[in-house]
Amino acid sequence: MESPSGSATSVARQLVEAGRRLERRGWALGTSGNFSAVIAEDPLRLAITASGIDKASLSEKDIVEVDDHAQLVRGRGDGRPSAETHLHLMVVKARDAGAVLHTHSVWTTVLTNATEAREISIRGYEMLKGLAGVQTHEHEERVPIVENAQDMPKLAREVEGILAERPGAHAFLLRRHGLYTWGRDLPEAVRHVEILEFLFEALGRSRSLQGS
Ligand SMILES: [Zn+2]
Repeated sequence: MESPSGSATSVARQLVEAGRRLERRGWALGTSGNFSAVIAEDPLRLAITASGIDKASLSEKDIVEVDDHAQLVRGRGDGRPSAETHLHLMVVKARDAGAVLHTHSVWTTVLTNATEAREISIRGYEMLKGLAGVQTHEHEERVPIVENAQDMPKLAREVEGILAERPGAHAFLLRRHGLYTWGRDLPEAVRHVEILEFLFEALGRSRSLQGS
């Protein structure tokens, strides 16, 4: 079944737009971050940014297509899927997501460095209402923090277990690394990045002002 996002070409175009927008905000500097969107559900085909691409000059040729085992189906001869493709595929399956976005911001790095806790709790902010299904600023968003690792299939299994225990979570953080969030489609996933990055920055700046 084809995704509501449309053909592989239009999905790639939308991913490029989203990726460049997030890079301009400083959330995917250098070659950091990676972005994906579902092209087709059965069999699963995922469009994802190739490894080692500078997101400021991201273009459609930098988007490759993988199957549900993270194997390259279509793309540039030298284009390898991102090393973190396993995490994207896990989130797509676990959350029935249409798009998964991964950013490396200063504030997610600072906040996950400042604590040894395994989650960051966010509550009482109006911006929380930008998360899908959230109706009130009184909502508590508990964002899990997972220890960073380089073995991506293993890390994906670990996060899969955490997400299963937390069906309401909209995102997770990798410590001193960055944010993963998702949406039923790409616009919702982009909104979630913007909402969460706003909230992490607000939290970080508030703590700085309080001197804690
Ligand atoms: Zn990363």
